[in-house]
Amino acid sequence: MNERYLKRLQVRPGMKVRLGEYNTGWAQNDALKEAGKEAVKERAMEILEENRAQLASAQELLWASNTYAVLIILQGMDTAGKDGTIKHVMSGVNPQGCKVQSFRVPTEEELDHTFLWRYWKALPNRGEIGIFNRSYYEDVLVVKVHPERLVNLPPGKRGKKFWNARYEDINAFERHLIRNGTVILKFYLHISKDEQKKRLLERLQDREKLWKFSLSDLEERKFWDIYQEVYEDALTMTSTEMAPWYIIPADHKWVARTLIAEIITTKIRSLDLAYPTLSGESMAQLKEARRHLEEEEEE
Ligand code: AMP
Ligand code: MG
Repeated sequence: MNERYLKRLQVRPGMKVRLGEYNTGWAQNDALKEAGKEAVKERAMEILEENRAQLASAQELLWASNTYAVLIILQGMDTAGKDGTIKHVMSGVNPQGCKVQSFRVPTEEELDHTFLWRYWKALPNRGEIGIFNRSYYEDVLVVKVHPERLVNLPPGKRGKKFWNARYEDINAFERHLIRNGTVILKFYLHISKDEQKKRLLERLQDREKLWKFSLSDLEERKFWDIYQEVYEDALTMTSTEMAPWYIIPADHKWVARTLIAEIITTKIRSLDLAYPTLSGESMAQLKEARRHLEEEEEE
């Protein structure tokens, strides 16, 4: 896939994000528009398939070389497609080297610790791919929209300074992880307000999707504009050279899944990993073991 196009999805550090300027659909540029939706979709599905296979082998290598961990962060409004992305993008990956963690409203125990505690505990080990379905970014998103959820903290104003300190903590946390061998990929699944309405209605109309509907989704939808603003702030303040945000057009699930799969495989491939090599002594031991087995008498 065109590298320049992928790069354009990245939020350049220091750049002020205005989500209204980002398209949520499939026709991201003139070349795609010209090709037409059906042709673009067909090619996207092929790329997704190729990437699924490549991701499976990239993950084996990640596991064998045991040097890096990969942390994938998925954020987005309700119905943005976080769960479906995990299911489709990771379907070929060996479950042994991959763990998914979803974060909901914090428990009492979690609230009795600093806001990063529960995420810290859930980080992937070296060799693993860890996926955060929601993350510490919720603590500068939903919590910023509803500051009454900030509990058990020392008194003080919850103004700009407070939130800037949280962005700073997040950047420092990520810098620490990266310096110690964690690769961080952050995706914001960008959907339009109309698309969310469509997906919420689908949940209500389809018996098999009904369980996914939550009355709180409707409540939160009322805060749509405020959410867009807090997302803009978070994306602006925490997109860094080491861990940039990607704004993924997500009104079409196939677009989001293909782009995310492509970015993950490209990143892991760029680590230039290799299977461990054995010393001469170990090779001699293995040769000896093989001789023993071959000479074993048949029972
Ligand atoms: P779902 O992803 O549909 O299972 O919903 C999880 C809910 O938990 C969402 O409404 C989130 O806003 C909420 N949530 C996740 N993390 C936090 C957090 N740190 N503080 C408050 N609410 C959170
Ligand atoms: Mg939900």
